[in-house]
Amino acid sequence: MTNIILMGPPGAGKGTQARHLVDQRNMVQLSTGDMLRDAQASGSEMGKKVATIMAEGKLVTDEVVIGLIREKMTAGADGGFIFDGFPRTLAQADALAALLDEMGQTLDAVIEMEVDDAALVARITGRSTCGGCGEVYHDETKPWAADGKCTNCGSTDVKRRADDNEDSLKTRLMEYYKKTSPLLGYYYAKGSLSTIDGLAAIDQVQGSIAGILDA
Ligand code: AMP
Repeated sequence: MTNIILMGPPGAGKGTQARHLVDQRNMVQLSTGDMLRDAQASGSEMGKKVATIMAEGKLVTDEVVIGLIREKMTAGADGGFIFDGFPRTLAQADALAALLDEMGQTLDAVIEMEVDDAALVARITGRSTCGGCGEVYHDETKPWAADGKCTNCGSTDVKRRADDNEDSLKTRLMEYYKKTSPLLGYYYAKGSLSTIDGLAAIDQVQGSIAGILDA
């Protein structure tokens, strides 16, 4: 069993790579962003509370996301967990260490997907996902088929995120550099950090991640 964190700014490709690992290695993706969007879609009180914060691109409180992660981790994962978009603060990193410890598990790798900021605007503003299966599309690099159907599941439900716009991206980037990027030093010091080129082709990035997991 392997537990890993995928780190990188918004648009680095964490979600795309996490989906591949779920398919290939029977791992469980724990994306706090997806959990928070699900909470919003379900109309729960918590979902309503975080809606504005998320649309602006700011971080929701540590307490909320740690609670979500704790709940999902208790379900277990045969192939291990992929933490995607979590932890984003030092307090979250400490909470994750404590949770893994409680479960008698280890954190096996932290993979930083390095990308330059100029590429992120283009990646984020053209992004959409399939509402049926979560397949990720991009207006320029991976457009929807002419018949409007998802190549993976056939759904025609195109989803665009409310926070995938330039204004919100600026705030999300600022949050990343102020609050999340210090975690790179934290995990480097713990000896868990590997950095890969997140701008390489998707299958090359998959290969780099496999190389780290199988080392
Ligand atoms: P993501 O899908 O990972 O880009 O997350 C979308 C938004 O959800 C972020 O901009 C934050 O508002 C919120 N969010 C997701 N994960 C976290 C986290 N670990 N800590 C705080 N806020 C989060």
